[in-house]
Formats: sequence, C-alpha cells, structure tokens
Amino acid sequence: MADLVLGGLTKRFGTVAAVDGIDLKVEHGLLCCLLGPSGCGKTTTLRLVAGFIEPDGGTIAVGGKLLSDARASLPPERRAMSMIFQSYALWPHMTLFDNVAYGLVLRGLGREAIRAKVEEFLKAIRMEALAERYPGELSGGQQQRVALARALIVEPEILLLDEPLSNLDANLREEMRFELRRLHDRYRYTTLYVTHDQAEAMSTADLIVVMNHGRIEQAGPPETIYNRPASAFVARFIGGTNILKARRLDAQHVAVGDLALRCASVPATGDLVVSIRMHQIALAANRAEGTANTAAVTIRRRVFLGASNDYLVELADGSQLRVTTTPETDLAVGARAWVGLPERHCLALAE
Ligand code: ATP
Repeated sequence: MADLVLGGLTKRFGTVAAVDGIDLKVEHGLLCCLLGPSGCGKTTTLRLVAGFIEPDGGTIAVGGKLLSDARASLPPERRAMSMIFQSYALWPHMTLFDNVAYGLVLRGLGREAIRAKVEEFLKAIRMEALAERYPGELSGGQQQRVALARALIVEPEILLLDEPLSNLDANLREEMRFELRRLHDRYRYTTLYVTHDQAEAMSTADLIVVMNHGRIEQAGPPETIYNRPASAFVARFIGGTNILKARRLDAQHVAVGDLALRCASVPATGDLVVSIRMHQIALAANRAEGTANTAAVTIRRRVFLGASNDYLVELADGSQLRVTTTPETDLAVGARAWVGLPERHCLALAE
C-alpha cells in the first residue's frame, strides 16, 4: 500500500523556510491537492517528495519505507514516482505511441507486452486514433492527456502533478479536471497535485491541503474546507465569501459594527472576523418575520450574471457585503432592503 507520509518536513532557501515542518498523511489511492497562493511552498513540497531537492529536516516515507530524511535521500529514479509538469514535457521527435511507451522500453519490457499496454492506455485517454502523430500535431489538452498516459503506464507508487492544467484555456481546463478525476478513479494511484486554483482542487481532490507560508493551514475533504474553514485565511482563499471585522461578545455572539450577530460558535480570544458566503445570505425587499441576524441595507450595485444576480449591499456602518441571489430577485440600485444572515452560516474565525 503506497500511502505517503511526511513528518516535520522542512526546506529552507537562505532565510526563507519554503516548507516549514509539514506533517501530512495521504492514504493509499487518494488524490491530495496542495492548494495555496504563490510562494506558499507547494512546489517545493512536491519537489522534495520527488527527490529533486533534499530536505533540511523531517522525513518522507511511502508505504512504510523511508525515502528521505536529513541524513540520506533516495535519488528520484529510485522512488517509483511519475511526475507531470505544466509544460507537458513530451519528446517532440517521438510519436504519441513512442512517448507513452517510453517508460516501458526503459524497463526492458517485450515488444508485444509494450504494444498491448500502450494500446490500453491510449484507449483510456481516448486517443488511440492519433497514435502515430507527433506532439507538435496535438492540441495542448491532447498533449497533457498523453503526458498523463505516459506517467500512469509505469504504475507509479506516487503520481505527482505540478499545475498540470495551467497552460490550457479556461474551457479545456474545466474539461480536463473531469478527465483527471476519471483516470484517477480508474487507476487509483496515490496522487499529490499542486494547484493555486481552488475550483480545480474542489473538483479533483479527495483531500485538500491549504498551505500558507510553508505551513499547513488546514487539511480535509473539499466539503470540510469549504463549509468549515479553520481560519480566515482558508475562508478567503477558498473564495466566494464576505469577511467582516468582528468583536467577541460571548460564546455565541459577535458585534459587527453596531450589529450583534449570532454565530454557530465564537473563538475565545484573538482578533476575529465573520465569514459568510455570498450565496448563503438572504436578500429581500422586506424584513423576514421572526428571524435573528437581519439588517437593513442599501443596494449599491447589481450585476446580472444569467443564472444569478450579484448584488453589492451596504450596512448602516458603511461595511459592504456581496450577495448572490436567484435572477428573479429584483432590487434597484439605491433601494432599501434587508439581509438575513443565517446563524449556521456565520462563521466567526480567528484572523
Ligand atoms: P507558485 O504557485 O508561485 O509556484 P509555490 O507555492 O509553489 O508558488 P514554492 O515555489 O514552493 O511556492 O516557493 C516557496 C518559497 O521558496 C518562495 O518564497 C520561493 O521564492 C522560495 N524558493 C523556491 N525555490 C527556491 C530556490 N531554488 N531558491 C531560492 N528560493 C526558492
């Protein structure tokens, strides 16, 4: 079983701790996304796992076997890992067939065994008809599918992907997320996937690890990261949320300006914010009867997005909220209205 375990993994570049004592376990067969802003240490973590660079501290183990610690590090070619890069990195002078076959040729497999396996994988990426083409004759999406087949065919213990979709246009990127997940469900190699795109992480991962300044802010399934962010940083990074400065009143209430908000729970100390997602706010012309957490607002902006309306509304103290409604919610700019902020969706978080 190829589970991947990182223990206190650390890498410094001069005074910068690019990876700062990471502990992480990725169970066998799971797809784990390392997600975070530029410079948070995602790629360095991936390169440490691949063996391209050596750690200053901590350990890397796969299937219970130690690959690396501060004293010794197994070289990349002895790690049974495949890596896929942004740039596809295909051999331009080889056909698609030969590119996919490459790893098996290196391993000295017989001609017929290679042919059968390559055909299986070309079928899996739905490109069997293009086997004799060269990479220069393929689209970006097709090249990335070939890179995937080439990485999967050698049956790696760990599959490493470094922003594999970032060179593709938006439509293709979306399609390739589903393709990646489909191939993962079929072959189930333990996978570490680096991205800064939260939608990519949400649609592909079993486990999302949000990184910040070389550390893990939160690790969990996509639903947990989205619905129960552990910090304001995670809530902000996962996107689509309003963050309001808040002051603790008691274990269930915070003050936002002069508005007292009831929240599911309130951290005991520290600077606080309240996170409330745009689509979880109710917006209407009239105040909902008998509901807590309501406030009068003025409509400042309205954008019709087809499937929804995107409103910007202003509270009495001047703070602003973005609210996503159905397209039927029809409120004019300048009008007075009411927002409802459901208690279970008001997340008081440490800033
Ligand atoms: P991006 O999404 O921009 O690729 P990242 O999260 O992958 O960012 P890393 O590339 O891991 O971030 O970089 C983490 C930190 O380490 C950054 O501050 C970066 O400048 C620094 N760093 C990375 N590689 C080196 C290097 N070879 N020499 C010096 N500093 C480096």
